[in-house]
Amino acid sequence: MTDVAIAGGGLIGLSVAWRAAQRGLRVTVVDDAPGTGASHAAAGMLAPVTEAGYGEEALLRLNLASLQRWPAFASDLERAGGIPVGFRTAGTLVVGFDDDDMRALDDLHAFQRELGLAAERLPPRATRRREPSLTPRVRGGLLMSGDHSVDGRSLHAGLLAAARAAGVRLVAERIDAVHVVGGRAAGLRLTGGERLDADVVVLALGARSAGLPGVPPLPVRPVKGQILRLAGAAGLLEGTVRALVRGRQVYLVPYAGDRLVVGATVEDRGFDATVTAGGVHELLHDAIEVVPGVSELELVETLARWRPGTADNAPLLGPSALPGLVLATGHHRNGVLLAPVTGEIVAEYLAGGELPEPAAPFTADRFPTDRPSTDPSRSG
Ligand SMILES: Cc1cc2nc3c(=O)[nH]c(=O)nc-3n(C[C@H](O)[C@H](O)[C@H](O)COP(=O)(O)OP(=O)(O)OC[C@H]3O[C@@H](n4cnc5c(N)ncnc54)[C@H](O)[C@@H]3O)c2cc1C
Repeated sequence: MTDVAIAGGGLIGLSVAWRAAQRGLRVTVVDDAPGTGASHAAAGMLAPVTEAGYGEEALLRLNLASLQRWPAFASDLERAGGIPVGFRTAGTLVVGFDDDDMRALDDLHAFQRELGLAAERLPPRATRRREPSLTPRVRGGLLMSGDHSVDGRSLHAGLLAAARAAGVRLVAERIDAVHVVGGRAAGLRLTGGERLDADVVVLALGARSAGLPGVPPLPVRPVKGQILRLAGAAGLLEGTVRALVRGRQVYLVPYAGDRLVVGATVEDRGFDATVTAGGVHELLHDAIEVVPGVSELELVETLARWRPGTADNAPLLGPSALPGLVLATGHHRNGVLLAPVTGEIVAEYLAGGELPEPAAPFTADRFPTDRPSTDPSRSG
């Protein structure tokens, strides 16, 4: 028996586990392969201003709230887990090459200014002064000094260590179903017939959150992303660089001294994990167009994983239609960025029964498929 059983030990499940254990709850995380889902692929961008999208103002507010928590989250975590997480505050530069790109940059800048967000438009020379390895063909840039990055894999290792140190129990088993008794979640059923009983179950299975037996219908779907890792990039880039190359987005994120992540495709192909020749070609081609020096780097890893997508690109947080089942899923492109605020909000809900205000726009009942119960432990 445990107070809280968390299904899924990715960045989201572990952030919730760590914060809930710090609040004195007995927490068990169940995952047969922790850290091998979307969290293994993430580029680690913490980029709410760059990602600000029309009609997504509520998500932007949550993203900004999480970004604000990042410095303290990273230092608390490093202290608790003893593992450096590679939090970098070097900013993000978006660059353009042709008239269409420059118009897109101006539109983004105008939208950012409308929302009061900090971004600086740079002429070509200043853009290249900031990142000298950019191609000379660059026509200008937009600098988001406050959009940061982190090493996603070190972050996962740090969370695992911090969660353990806070008393979280880890069970390396596959989950077959949510155990439902009398119309409420009462634990998890594991492969092999075992059962873990719990007062509350947190669903944090990323893209696999929908479709687990016992879970009410949820609008979470896999959004495939192929991504590359390269080595030998020491000194190549100061911060994250993003660009539109013939209408396709590409980003380059430096980390761990000499490493570079190049990403990412966005594909609707279900749980297909194939790394395709076309996907790798596009990413390398576009990255080399933006930063020619990428062609000299060693390609050390290619990978495909699934973002936990939702129809409005925002997460599902808090109560579900099944009493006793709490949602921490659907973080789509922003699960790394949103880990601090998700951990805090969901842990507060688990400990106190009230859903904190920042989570209010993100309950599942904004979609017609799910109607939440009112508190995490009461049956209904
Ligand atoms: C290519 C790519 C690039 C990205 N880049 C960024 C970025 O730069 N910044 C950002 O903020 N976000 C980024 N994201 C999004 C981010 O990675 C996700 O939002 C985040 O990792 C979701 O974390 P999670 O813990 O919810 O899911 P996951 O990391 O997928 O974790 C789910 C866990 O559940 C476990 N699991 C699943 N089914 C079962 C079962 N039946 N039994 C037991 N365990 C199970 C899995 O083993 C896994 O460990 C990116 C995603 C992709 C794919």
